[in-house]
Amino acid sequence: MNKNEAQIAVVGAGMSGLIAALELERLGYSPHLIEASDQIGGRLKTVVENDICYDQGFQVLLTAYPEVKRYLDIEALDLMSFRPGALLFEDSTRPIQIGDINRDFKFLWSTLLTSVATLKDKRTLRKEQLRLKEENEDTIFDRTAHTTTRVYLREKGYSARFRNAFFMPFYAGIYLEPDLITSCKLFEFVFKMFAEGDAAVPRKGIAEIPRQIASRFEHTSIRFNKRVSRIVEDSKTNSTVLFINGKKERFDAVIYTAAPEQVDLKWNSCWNFYFELEEVKKKFNDIISLVASRDSLINNFYILPQKTVKGKFILSVTVLGNPKDQEQLIKNLQLEFGALCDIELGACLKSFYIENALPTYKKMRSLPRPEHVQPNANRGIFHAGDYMLYPSLNAAMKSGRLAAEAADRYLALL
Ligand SMILES: Cc1cc2nc3c(=O)[nH]c(=O)nc-3n(C[C@H](O)[C@H](O)[C@H](O)COP(=O)(O)OP(=O)(O)OC[C@H]3O[C@@H](n4cnc5c(N)ncnc54)[C@H](O)[C@@H]3O)c2cc1C
Repeated sequence: MNKNEAQIAVVGAGMSGLIAALELERLGYSPHLIEASDQIGGRLKTVVENDICYDQGFQVLLTAYPEVKRYLDIEALDLMSFRPGALLFEDSTRPIQIGDINRDFKFLWSTLLTSVATLKDKRTLRKEQLRLKEENEDTIFDRTAHTTTRVYLREKGYSARFRNAFFMPFYAGIYLEPDLITSCKLFEFVFKMFAEGDAAVPRKGIAEIPRQIASRFEHTSIRFNKRVSRIVEDSKTNSTVLFINGKKERFDAVIYTAAPEQVDLKWNSCWNFYFELEEVKKKFNDIISLVASRDSLINNFYILPQKTVKGKFILSVTVLGNPKDQEQLIKNLQLEFGALCDIELGACLKSFYIENALPTYKKMRSLPRPEHVQPNANRGIFHAGDYMLYPSLNAAMKSGRLAAEAADRYLALL
């Protein structure tokens, strides 16, 4: 089929759809990107108010992600990188600082002297960093043996205190679930990514990432407020009919990035609050703070790189799960920050509840199931989205790329 004439739809303008469209362009096509909402980015959303960029949910860009290296211009994103460590609130309002001394020497004394991690913990951490350096995304996810992260950490021999004070809150914040029942495969991949690159947020918000990709489009048309409600394959004409806002439209190939309804997904949820602060101690700058107590609402918090127009600092805090009463949550957070962290929170500036934040998985994989991307002369529907692999920006981008390549192989057969 002539690439100029091929009609290709990409359904969903989240990261997987944006990368799929970009790859299709690179392969010579002019795709139609069909998005149900009025903006690109999907779950990468930033709300800008009074020049403050409020991300809808705290998420970090890990610069070591293979797909980030492939697609993003890191310099242009103007990142605020977090120091490779954390402040831990265990049972006193004085936080304990630990960090990766191989990446930031300033963590040397606090990390060597801390009693949170035993000598064995520190040795195991280093050994694991070196072991995982030799692995890649595929070898990690392809392993057949897997268990929960919680069991894995115990089996690795980390001390109970180190697991409870550091690993539990840190990975609970990444998985958005407090019990670490998520597969240890994701743990190994994320652990490797943290060891090999920075964790960062764009100063202008996480939505800078999809914006950067969309700014490269030359032949992609984006249609907003268009919901696809049905997909029908027509094997007689080798085409696929989409019902877009109720109207039928025919395409030679379709890349569908939203989870189909028949896929029974469960989602982890979280709240993200932004509070004003009069003052901030220097130790809180450029670092993620974690609260170890399982009874605490606070999972993690950090200070934004921007200040309010009145020159006040802004703190972002993540609360896991789905407690419902927002006003009560705000009051309790103000009390908890005072009692646990010696931080006096000011007014709540913004809050988001993200119900469908991260899909949960029985089986994580680094490559899509063959039936989702295999070219087949009678089938022009391909799937992408993080829900197919594992919950991460890297997986979303990779799935978009692989779906575009599969669609190209399919169209070449027509
Ligand atoms: C709070 C939170 C924290 C996170 N933290 C991290 C992190 O620290 N690091 C990390 O790597 N990842 C993180 N993630 C995950 C990351 O954001 C996602 O993996 C990624 O954005 C998923 O992209 P996607 O394209 O697969 O899906 P989505 O972003 O969900 O995009 C799907 C798009 O399809 C559209 N759509 C849906 N149905 C239809 C339809 N019928 N017709 C048309 N359009 C439709 C939607 O409107 C949406 O725009 C986090 C996510 C959240 C929410």
